[in-house]
Amino acid sequence: EKQHTVVIVGGGAAGISVASSIHKRDRDTDIGIVEPSDTHHYQPGWTMVGGGVFRPEVTSKPMSDVMPRFSSWYQDKVTTIEPEANRIRLADGSTIGYEVLILAPGLELNWSGIDGLDAALGSNGVTSNYRQGMASYTWEMVQNLKKGTALFSQPPMPIKCAGAPQKAMYLSSDFWQKNHCLSDIDVQFHNAGAVLFGVADYVPALQRYIDRYRISTYFQSTLVAVNGPSRKAIFRISGSDGRSEDREIGFDMLHAVPPQRAPGFIRESVLANESGWLDLADDTLCHKRFSNIFGLGDVSGTANAKTAAAVRKQAPVVAENVISTLRKAPMTAAYLGYGSCPLTVENGRIVLAEFGYNGVLQPSFPRWLNDGTQATRAAWWLKAKQLPALYWHVMLKGHEWMATPAVRSSH
Ligand code: FAD
Repeated sequence: EKQHTVVIVGGGAAGISVASSIHKRDRDTDIGIVEPSDTHHYQPGWTMVGGGVFRPEVTSKPMSDVMPRFSSWYQDKVTTIEPEANRIRLADGSTIGYEVLILAPGLELNWSGIDGLDAALGSNGVTSNYRQGMASYTWEMVQNLKKGTALFSQPPMPIKCAGAPQKAMYLSSDFWQKNHCLSDIDVQFHNAGAVLFGVADYVPALQRYIDRYRISTYFQSTLVAVNGPSRKAIFRISGSDGRSEDREIGFDMLHAVPPQRAPGFIRESVLANESGWLDLADDTLCHKRFSNIFGLGDVSGTANAKTAAAVRKQAPVVAENVISTLRKAPMTAAYLGYGSCPLTVENGRIVLAEFGYNGVLQPSFPRWLNDGTQATRAAWWLKAKQLPALYWHVMLKGHEWMATPAVRSSH
């Protein structure tokens, strides 16, 4: 059996960042990373590809380029975790033992949770920025649509980047408005949830864009089925009396977002909470029952917004607490639930939502530099010009820009 001091599951935003953050603190830590994919994706860029701002190539790199040289890479999938035996099992049947395990496998997009969606994607105007490689089809559809009905759907929470379903809608509407066809397009937002955005402080700025683009909003309206060739979508609308009714709507373009859940090997393991997500302590990101298991990124059951921005603050916290655990010292670093959602309300302006647990605002910048509750050019500049490089060269390398962990008050 192979053995590493620290084993990390997943080489996405979270897995690579936390490996680098541990290495930065202790160069001698022996780290193994299990990651099946050949390619690493910068998913926050997919919204920009769908809006015609980024070329698709800038959103991915070969996995071998981002995999840290100091780590051992196992290019395979983890199938089972055996926490009692401090061991994980890979698809090829081999096992790896660990002193500390860090789980960062992201989440699972449940495409089959919407009847017919998987088969419909990529033709007849059915698209999703959440599907790797499909954001360019979104941009193609947006440019081609001159009149008709454009539907944008948002599934029940939690999802990664909760604002992304709307971002696609705003960027599309902005393009149609600038090209004088918005008045011939019926734009509808169908949200399984009950509000436009979960943190109330950002709703007024978003509502102004809903009004400006004359978007019709439907709440508690969940996309349940799609028929591509006949261009029809079925939404289940739940009423306040607990009853629901199905409504069929024809479309010329549909941007769909699938329901999301933890990967099966987490969801069906003893490590999951009652909703299937990884059962972590809110502050230390250590598992609630296994003191040598940690987690971060989208798989986490903590109540933060599932974003790469959250990972930026989580990685140093996990790194510090993992090192303390290896040294048998108390954990001192705390995560306060920071997450961020740059809402691209038009090409050139963003509402930079930044908040922690319980919707407490955690702006990175003073108000005079950027007011997060308003659409600003500064935030667009940050997202369009700075964040991709910060992701590849700062966060993934463990440089921890504006991400110093809070000190735990209770240790
Ligand atoms: P991922 O980056 O998805 O990585 C998970 C990795 O685990 C993958 O490489 C996968 O291959 C691997 N893996 C999966 N299963 C296994 C297994 N069984 N064994 C081993 N490895 C496995 N975030 C922002 O901060 N700002 C944004 O503007 C933003 N916009 C977004 C827009 C879209 C359209 C999407 C889809 C996401 C957006 N996000 C945004 C969210 C952001 O991409 C995620 O929160 C972030 O990637 C989470 O990192 P992660 O490492 O947990 O998951």
